[in-house]
Amino acid sequence: MSIEIIVNNKAITAKKGETILNALTKNGIRIPTLCHMNEFSATGSCRLCVVEVKNKNKLIPACSQPITEPMTIFTHSPRVINARRTIVELLLSNHPDDCLYCGRNQHCELQNLAVELNIRERRFFSNKKVQIMDTSSPAIVKDDAKCILCGRCIRVCDERVQASAIDFSGRGKKTRVDTVMSKGLNYSSCIACGQCILVCPSGALSTKSSLTPVLDALNNKSSKVLIQIAPAVGYSIAEELGFKAGKDISNRLVAGLRAAGMDMVFNLAWAGDLFLIETAKHIIENKKPTIVTTCPAVTKYIEQFFPKALPMTNSVKSPQQIMGTIIKNHFVQAQDWDINDIFVVSVGPCTAAKAEATRIDTMSNGIPDVDAVLTTNELIRFLKLSGIDLHNIDEERYDAPFHVASSAGSLYHIPGGLTEGLYRHLSFLNTNKTPAKMNLEDARTTKPDKDINFKAGKTSYKVKTVSGIHHIKKYIQQIIDNEFDYDILDLTACLMGCMSGGGQPMTSQYAENAKFLMKSLYKNDNQAASKAPNQNPFTMDFSKQLHSEALKKLMPSLHHKFPQI
Ligand code: SF4
Ligand code: SF4
Repeated sequence: MSIEIIVNNKAITAKKGETILNALTKNGIRIPTLCHMNEFSATGSCRLCVVEVKNKNKLIPACSQPITEPMTIFTHSPRVINARRTIVELLLSNHPDDCLYCGRNQHCELQNLAVELNIRERRFFSNKKVQIMDTSSPAIVKDDAKCILCGRCIRVCDERVQASAIDFSGRGKKTRVDTVMSKGLNYSSCIACGQCILVCPSGALSTKSSLTPVLDALNNKSSKVLIQIAPAVGYSIAEELGFKAGKDISNRLVAGLRAAGMDMVFNLAWAGDLFLIETAKHIIENKKPTIVTTCPAVTKYIEQFFPKALPMTNSVKSPQQIMGTIIKNHFVQAQDWDINDIFVVSVGPCTAAKAEATRIDTMSNGIPDVDAVLTTNELIRFLKLSGIDLHNIDEERYDAPFHVASSAGSLYHIPGGLTEGLYRHLSFLNTNKTPAKMNLEDARTTKPDKDINFKAGKTSYKVKTVSGIHHIKKYIQQIIDNEFDYDILDLTACLMGCMSGGGQPMTSQYAENAKFLMKSLYKNDNQAASKAPNQNPFTMDFSKQLHSEALKKLMPSLHHKFPQI
């Protein structure tokens, strides 16, 4: 049922029962919020969205007040603006004044609110009670000094990620966001997905930076710094660097990274192809339902919460770790370089990849396959710091031998993309031919939970593709209980896949942005000359060598060593 309400002297129509905030947003009237998140229940805790309602004494929080009768609302009356200003001034009263050094500078909702409400001086001063910096995680830093206790991170971790790694602890002035027994994120159930970073409005949660070790390696004359670029990166950095949003600027990036001192620049989609080749083989040999993922947060989630599903999980390492292993244990020897002089940097959209690079089972004789992982955000900072202007640079190609990839090797960033790549290579393995039809239309929807059926040769495959940890739990349980009615379970932790990874450029529209970037990757796939791993002779050739006795002796396995259950 519709109700007419008057907002700022203008009539608008609202649905009975919807919140004031919802009705205003739908009608293009923006009011500030801090604790509110779309798709989550309202808590009304920050009170920033208060509005004045005629004949009500108190200001009303718009996010939690349903519209049940005609009402007259003022969203920006002097009383409302004063209340909002006071709320933000109180939040700032104990906030550190270190915006210049904060990674969230210029992308901070709190900073933007101070500007919007014309707060130009500090009226209130108070000391923050507890100011602990949690640096225990290899991926995430939590700084209590910047926390405004909005609770967004807790709700995302609990309701969407379902890791429940953080919660409020203490009371009154001692309230803080904490882990169990205050042991720190690395000793909690955190899977390093970084989704809490994306929703934190104030920079209290941030990515642990790896810029310093990368800069140190570049400054060390005896080091050779080799960098591998994930396929999503070339699209994700464009807008932030002043190019058309979603444009693929990978070849300019290659040139820029060389100009910044990188010795070699590799295309991680090469390892994306190898992942598909190895995983397709495993699926054919396994003959049982298989969990497939390139996502290190999913792997950690299964290890932590569903260890009984590990025997059903494809153990092939992620493309990042595959390329690191091959560089450190094969390529370096072939070049006659000293492994101790090699520094491998990986760049991608994912914070969990930072944690993945520190896993013991991805090290050989204590030497990590990947020495530093930069997120897309950190890469942008690195380019700016190095004075590289990608607008004024000629395009260059990736370095051989990890330069050529099929477009399937890039699709693992998209939910359903991994399935599409597997379909192409399973078809090749089952028929010895490249499939005539490359796309799987059911894989290309933005639904988080998809059913994809395909035939590869004479064999039919039923696939369940799921993105967002909160959606995947029931299917993992079905696999454990032998009740899973599919052949493949394809999983990514972040809703809409890696394009909404915790290390992606900060934008308040990150979900929309992720969808937009997915379209760019599909466009690239549609236009690519080589769409299937078997059309990439370099990776196919390496895959053959990989199973030779000589290479088996030389190289550590490309598989994780999951604990035996
Ligand atoms: S990184 Fe993910 S799992 Fe860890 S605290 Fe943040 S939301 Fe929770
Ligand atoms: S860490 Fe960030 S998201 Fe979490 S409560 Fe504090 S300010 Fe809010």
